[in-house]
Amino acid sequence: MTPAEALEQVVYYLDRAHDTGFKTKAFVRALEVVRSVPDDELVARAEAGNLTDLDGIGSSSATVIQQALAGGEVRYLTDLASSTEVPLTRGGAIYRAALQGDLHLHSRWSDGGATIEAMARAAIALGHRYMVLTDHSPRLTVAHGLSAERLAEQLRDVRVLNERLAPFRILTGIEVDILEDGTLDHDNDVLAGLDLVVASVHSKLRMPSAEMTTRMVRAVASPHVDVLGHCTGRLIGKRDPSTFDADMVFAACAACHTAVEINSRPERLDPPRAMLQQAIEMGCLFSIDSDAHSTGQLEWQPHGCNRAAEMGVPLDRIINTWPLDDLLRWVAGQ
Ligand SMILES: [Zn+2]
Ligand SMILES: [Zn+2]
Repeated sequence: MTPAEALEQVVYYLDRAHDTGFKTKAFVRALEVVRSVPDDELVARAEAGNLTDLDGIGSSSATVIQQALAGGEVRYLTDLASSTEVPLTRGGAIYRAALQGDLHLHSRWSDGGATIEAMARAAIALGHRYMVLTDHSPRLTVAHGLSAERLAEQLRDVRVLNERLAPFRILTGIEVDILEDGTLDHDNDVLAGLDLVVASVHSKLRMPSAEMTTRMVRAVASPHVDVLGHCTGRLIGKRDPSTFDADMVFAACAACHTAVEINSRPERLDPPRAMLQQAIEMGCLFSIDSDAHSTGQLEWQPHGCNRAAEMGVPLDRIINTWPLDDLLRWVAGQ
């Protein structure tokens, strides 16, 4: 393992543990430094014990680099592997084993931290057969949402990657913003050109219940929308869930061919339990998605799997347990 690979793995583990603090930033910085320093200089510094003279290399990253160069076990990495493991219940394990892909994740094209290829390779390593690339739509300027032009450019990249990564398949998609009136943040012809569309509310989360209900029903009724993303918009401990008539929204999802996402981000875990129960009773389909913004976050699906198991979501109603051909047929409305 090279020092860069070891540091990449450290960052991956910290990401899956949702460590967004100083430690992760320090390792990301160390990784950049290691990539910019010639190998022989790194070796010489490791031997002389002065790696930390390099700006951006602290004692922990120096130890990782030294151990990687020594060719033996990178102890820091071994410890991190066990301490950051994402918890999976016995029931959740059944759901996780059934998942064939991930329908909601981001790349560097919007506000993700990794390239499409890095996300795809991490998804392959997790055993996935497909993933849907769902970067943000233009209205979400803080997240560098994709205009129709940039999206078209991204689709060209995906085509090339798919040739290289086959039989794994990157499906094209977007996390399209549900605008205040329930219309979508891309034209229908743009959405029609994508394999799968996740639609989410990211603005005006506090609008009155009746208006929010109309807004969401209108969005999920669009023939282009396949998945309703993180439906309440809550951030646990930080932002309350939006209020809407859940029976009405889920009835619309069930009737209009839109799956309800079980968002696995630990700060979201959306929908909350009671609402998930309602969606089950309304006969909805579901997807269990990571909503990953980095490779390590692709490991978050177990959070959603644990929740699905706890609430007894019927396994065959989870569309990303389906084989790719079945999923594509469903998306196409057949
Ligand atoms: Zn979102
Ligand atoms: Zn997202």
